[in-house]
Amino acid sequence: MSGNDSRAQAINQITNREPMPTQAPERLEDIWAENVFDLNKMQASLPKAVFQSIKNTIVTGEPLDASVADAVATAMRDWAMSKGALYYAHVFYPMTNLTAEKHDGFISVQSDGKVISQFSGKVLVQGEPDGSSFPNGGIRDTFEARGYTGWDVTSPAYIMETDNGATLCIPTVFVSWTGEALDKKVPLLRSIGAMDQAARKVLTLLGNKDVAPVNSSCGAEQEYFLVDANFASQRPDLQLAGRTLFGKAPAKGQEFDDHYFGAIPERVQVFMQEVENILYKLGIPAKTRHNEVAPSQFEIAPFFEAANVASDHQQLIMTVLKQTAKKHGFMCLLHEKPFAGINGSGKHINWSVGNATQGNLLDPGDSPHENAQFLLFCAAVIRGVHKYGPLMRAAIATASNDHRLGANEAPPAIMSVYLGTQLEEIFEQIKTGTVSESKQKGVLDIGVDVVPQLTQDAGDRNRTSPFAFTGNRFEFRAVGSNQSVSGPLIVLNTMLADSLDWIGNRLENELSKNTDMNTAIITVLKDVMEQHSAVIFGGNGYSEEWHKMAVEERGLINLPTTADALPTLKEEAIEDLFKKTGVLTPVELESRFEVYAEQYILSIEVEAKLMVNMAKTMIYPVAMEYLSQLSATLSNLAPLKINLDQTLIETIANLTNSLVATMTRLSEALEQHKTTNTEEKMQYCATTLLPIMNQLREQADALEGAVADHLWPLPTYQEMLFVK
Ligand code: ADP
Ligand code: MG
Repeated sequence: MSGNDSRAQAINQITNREPMPTQAPERLEDIWAENVFDLNKMQASLPKAVFQSIKNTIVTGEPLDASVADAVATAMRDWAMSKGALYYAHVFYPMTNLTAEKHDGFISVQSDGKVISQFSGKVLVQGEPDGSSFPNGGIRDTFEARGYTGWDVTSPAYIMETDNGATLCIPTVFVSWTGEALDKKVPLLRSIGAMDQAARKVLTLLGNKDVAPVNSSCGAEQEYFLVDANFASQRPDLQLAGRTLFGKAPAKGQEFDDHYFGAIPERVQVFMQEVENILYKLGIPAKTRHNEVAPSQFEIAPFFEAANVASDHQQLIMTVLKQTAKKHGFMCLLHEKPFAGINGSGKHINWSVGNATQGNLLDPGDSPHENAQFLLFCAAVIRGVHKYGPLMRAAIATASNDHRLGANEAPPAIMSVYLGTQLEEIFEQIKTGTVSESKQKGVLDIGVDVVPQLTQDAGDRNRTSPFAFTGNRFEFRAVGSNQSVSGPLIVLNTMLADSLDWIGNRLENELSKNTDMNTAIITVLKDVMEQHSAVIFGGNGYSEEWHKMAVEERGLINLPTTADALPTLKEEAIEDLFKKTGVLTPVELESRFEVYAEQYILSIEVEAKLMVNMAKTMIYPVAMEYLSQLSATLSNLAPLKINLDQTLIETIANLTNSLVATMTRLSEALEQHKTTNTEEKMQYCATTLLPIMNQLREQADALEGAVADHLWPLPTYQEMLFVK
């Protein structure tokens, strides 16, 4: 079949496909959390004392009473089996951004050959997957491959349904036999603990009598692309790399901005509804759905939840999106930049901190006391971003996210904070000590007056900032669509813990000098602003002037690639930060650096190999075929004395030669890629391999624009983005 035949067949199949049977949505009240073993179900099925004990553990984080585990396990198994589950799985989150799970049957064979179903407290609480195949950055040698999963009581167990069965899934932590974190959940839980401790100290110093545990919240907006599976299956690059490595931009892209405001195509809407149905049953509060800027790009955002639960739910959302897409004949692309020249996908993390007694601590509130609190917490964030911006950059550093950051569609790789005009002004006045003069504005004497309600008007949003205050939370906009939210949340919580600790000590020191509360707060805030206001920026983050100003005048650090950003994890200050807060030991941190670096190197190497392969076996043959067709025509016409213009043939011949040369150069560069030094290897990827890959792509894309369409073997951008 020639290139065009298989493409035409795909188009044919898409346009003639039977629509998925549509169903009226089920009533939310009927399906909400039906597949979750939540507190309500526990209460209904457990003896009172057992329920009280497990509830205490869930709500207050008290250690799990081992004697209740058996009772909980039995109730959980009975519930799961009543829903058709024969297997259970400890689900964990290795350092690779993925979700991992090992399935075990409830089945137990007795000595008389009969089988019973069994599930004890012991297997609920602890599992032992063969962890040797998960990257661990050298923490475990393979002969000590054992890693343990441990039930995370704070995130509820749930049922995952497939067409012919169901599995009981138990969210767990994943640690080595020596107790080191091998996953993203352990440090997330530790970072919440560290932040809680520091926050409570500040709240207590401020005179609050009753202070509940402080947690962070996360609402993550997930962007994704949908491509018809008929096309995707013909693209080795989408299959293996999750993005197109070749592909010429279509005549029409997103210039008209017509997709964002457009109606959701019906086929997509049917898909979305099924996704939401599954999510509701899993107790995941899907709240927003819409088209995104690029053609075939969409977004789903759940209502925000406690960071740990939100993080598990985020992983589930990605799984459900991918699985459901398959069922609907789509491939769901979570890659940050599946199509060159068209907007990529991010995952904005909306993040705030708060507790049951003081509420959202990043909400200005409407009493002077709440305002003071708010300003201190806000200042803590500002200090954190200024001190640990490069760490934030490292937390979102992947080969795929590098394609998006700084590409005039997504925030730059330089971390800064956007506060909005009002709040920026308030902090500026604190810094310059003009606090009392502006009293008539009702703004600044925080002991008496009130910070005005800050507008949450969407029009006021700065969409070019990597980290923006949006009225009662911060939005970390630079996070990649394919990433686990845990990494960024760990960094945000940890830097906040560090800043609150610093602020707590400064405040304590001031108060011990008998300074009144108001003056003490202003002094500390002024201090923070004097040292850290350089990170506040309200202008256009995409502009070149900012890139220059940020680095040259403000001393901020620009880390354009992952190869530049990841070594931050090896800095002494970062090691100290994680050690001091108890979030990661130096060994755990080092292992993270190794794993992330390895992932970066591997993904670029795989893409480079695949490019050589595709260029050699798909693109070169087509160019040659077309050339021979053209030259045959030319020679056939020559005896008739008809001379055809030859410029196109020459262009194609030249491009083909360049393609072969670049292909060879890329193969050789891959061969020479032998150093064992991780940093050097990353830099080699960023500065040697990637530029050659870009060049190869340019040549191939130019060929796509010159070779006869009926020969071209790869579904085009136009087809993938516009045919539905
Ligand atoms: P946007 O206008 O930024 O696209 P969306 O409505 O798509 O906003 O998403 C905003 C996200 O922020 C949602 O997940 C929402 O639940 C979440 N959010 C709202 N308030 C808070 C808060 N206080 N803390 C954390 N997340 C929040
Ligand atoms: Mg949104």
